[in-house]
Amino acid sequence: MDSCVCAALAARDHDAAALHISYGQRTEERERQSFLAICQQLGIRNKLVVRNEALHAIGGSALTDENIAVPESHAIGHDIPVTYVPFRNAHFLAVAVSWAEVLGAGKIYIGAVEQDSSGYPDCRPRYYEAFNRVIKAGTKEGNIEIVTPLIAMRKAEIVRLGLELGAPFDLTWSCYSRQDRACGVCDSCVLRLRAFQAAGAKDPISYATLEQCI
Ligand SMILES: [Zn+2]
Repeated sequence: MDSCVCAALAARDHDAAALHISYGQRTEERERQSFLAICQQLGIRNKLVVRNEALHAIGGSALTDENIAVPESHAIGHDIPVTYVPFRNAHFLAVAVSWAEVLGAGKIYIGAVEQDSSGYPDCRPRYYEAFNRVIKAGTKEGNIEIVTPLIAMRKAEIVRLGLELGAPFDLTWSCYSRQDRACGVCDSCVLRLRAFQAAGAKDPISYATLEQCI
């Protein structure tokens, strides 16, 4: 949902192009489907869909290693959870910067959220400040900049902003563990459900556990 709101902002303010990277995560098929549907809805025609083989081969995360279970959400905000994919966002950003150089794009939007999220180290503002210095030093013109419009927002604020922008939440996928129906109990599902609840809005996707409860 953060990526979708971020894409809606980029598409509102710029001639946006969109990047999707599958990295052997459990829900990669479903996420790619969502990416394509969201791009269509937002009118983003220039798309790049690629695979990163390294992150799955390296493993070390519940998202990319079948031997590590995706935990039910018990302790959001305490330690870095096992769903952290080691240094993942640097892989994404490296691809985005390469593509931006070829396109002549000046900004790279990423929907990282610092607080009110799972506590991943590659979602902190100083990480993006440092990455911007790397881009300046390592690209031809040095004029590409990563922007993180959601980084300081609460999740409920992101929901409200998305609703204002007409972001297609019904097409998004957040669940870490299932592709048929969102599980409702992983960190990502729980954070999303809480965000919609706090915003006083209804999450338009359906959940396996919530249905079982009814
Ligand atoms: Zn889930």
